[in-house]
Amino acid sequence: MNLEILQNELNKTIRNVPDFPKPGIQFKDITTLLNNAKVFNMLMEFLEERYKKIDLDFVAGIESRGFIFGAALATRLNAGFVPIRKKGKLPFTSVVEKYALEYGFDEIEIHVDAFGDMQNAKVLLIDDLIATGGTAEAGIKLINSIGGNCIEACFLLRLLDFDAVDKIKRYTKVFTILDI
Ligand code: AMP
Repeated sequence: MNLEILQNELNKTIRNVPDFPKPGIQFKDITTLLNNAKVFNMLMEFLEERYKKIDLDFVAGIESRGFIFGAALATRLNAGFVPIRKKGKLPFTSVVEKYALEYGFDEIEIHVDAFGDMQNAKVLLIDDLIATGGTAEAGIKLINSIGGNCIEACFLLRLLDFDAVDKIKRYTKVFTILDI
């Protein structure tokens, strides 16, 4: 699968919604990619190709759009899927990480036993988009705090208005498909 062709298809299928959820935000809507069977499959084939050599143990997806791509990729790679959720949603004992938003803060969680008994599990973090990188940074800290080894963080989209990738590179490798 050719990266340039995929980038072009993502560009065509991801919809920009101005002023959502509040004025000034250019929201990148991936539902118009998901309902396109050809492009969704093209994307998953590309990610499978990239990650099948690494022998991952788990794919961890960030709520909620990271669940869609993460779970689809995990089954293709024969890896487990681990959800990283907003605070208060996970039923079992969890570890929490707080991170800054533009105004205020948010918190995400992971189950303490998300990687079972495995020590140093090889984990890929995935989300649809990286903006400030706050969510991803918290996700990586959670993975590592319960004994996992976050070997890469993968995003479909990177917003170049924010200088996030350098922040994340302190913790792990970063791979983004389309930079806009
Ligand atoms: P950040 O922590 O600033 O990197 O924000 C990343 C998280 O917020 C991801 O889970 C994204 O899905 C979501 N997000 C941030 N900005 C946007 C945007 N412009 N369009 C769609 N989702 C966004």
